[in-house]
Amino acid sequence: MTSAVFFSATYREARQRFLDAARTAGAKVQSHAHPLKGAEGEEIGTDTALLGRADADRLFIVSSGTHGPEGFSGSACQLALLGDELAKRATDRGIALLLVHAVNPFGFSHLKRTNEDNIDLNRNFNDFAAPYPDNPVYEEIHELLVPKAWPPSHANETQLAAAMARLAGQRNPGVSSGQARHPDGLFYCGTAPAWSNRTIRGIVRTHGAGRHHIAWIDVHTGLGPYGHGEKIFGRHSPETTARARRWWGQDLIVSTATESVSPRTIGHITGCAPEECPDAAITPSTLEYGTVPNPVVRRALRGEAWLAGHPDAPPALVREIRKAVRDAFYVDADDWKGMILGQFRAFALQTINGLGAEKH
Ligand SMILES: [Zn+2]
Repeated sequence: MTSAVFFSATYREARQRFLDAARTAGAKVQSHAHPLKGAEGEEIGTDTALLGRADADRLFIVSSGTHGPEGFSGSACQLALLGDELAKRATDRGIALLLVHAVNPFGFSHLKRTNEDNIDLNRNFNDFAAPYPDNPVYEEIHELLVPKAWPPSHANETQLAAAMARLAGQRNPGVSSGQARHPDGLFYCGTAPAWSNRTIRGIVRTHGAGRHHIAWIDVHTGLGPYGHGEKIFGRHSPETTARARRWWGQDLIVSTATESVSPRTIGHITGCAPEECPDAAITPSTLEYGTVPNPVVRRALRGEAWLAGHPDAPPALVREIRKAVRDAFYVDADDWKGMILGQFRAFALQTINGLGAEKH
């Protein structure tokens, strides 16, 4: 059996296969219906599968599709794990396994990285009582990033390339760190917790209650070298950082380090775990797989943002933009798919061994 069989062609297919495999594996399945419909008019939602004892004191969460079509890979990782002896190894060691399928089902189905309101969900898990940090780097190029017309003019492309070259060394904040001023822009954080945010918090609160240790891998694509999975780790206490290093090794990348493929982001999803489960030791990571070169990914995201502001665009142009987004975040090639699943399996094994070795 090749790795490619675990990858689906649409959200609808991925969802059905996940639910079928979860039931076959004997998981407890729950579905959270999204209020809108998918691209094929289908029902959409975030589904969870729980394996292992309800009262296990360790919980291992794997989530997919925070950024819509990045879910093709996360969903494949989850599907592979459901049929892998690793799942049994986890539950035998007293670890419950929680798979959260399609954090952003609307974006997954409609092939957009943002949600139904052009919100970047990995910038939406904020304390909205406090102002979102300014992002002067993004501010400088917003007008160029989201042009008046699509496809963008040659002049726009030239000016943007020059601006990006000028800003290349800017990190923390960087262009993609998040921004609160342009609802029509990229990496927009929103003004309140989105449906996915509220849903995920409820899931984490419910399933995390009573656990002593929680590990969480949120699977992403679109940054870094082709097929490479970077284990990104945020800013945490020295104790948490030491634990993560112990489990995950020297290729764990702290997101504030200059070698990371991503700048520090404000309001990312795993940040809700300490808030929802204050009594647990939380060990979170974003697993980020490289796809195609960064300028190609950026162009796809610009098209997506332009389309969000032009819902009456001709159908052929809509299809072209959606396809560009899909191709930027999901490489339909067997070697790439093998790299995704191989690295995920090693990361999952490290997590299970790490969680299993923690004292109660
Ligand atoms: Zn992502």
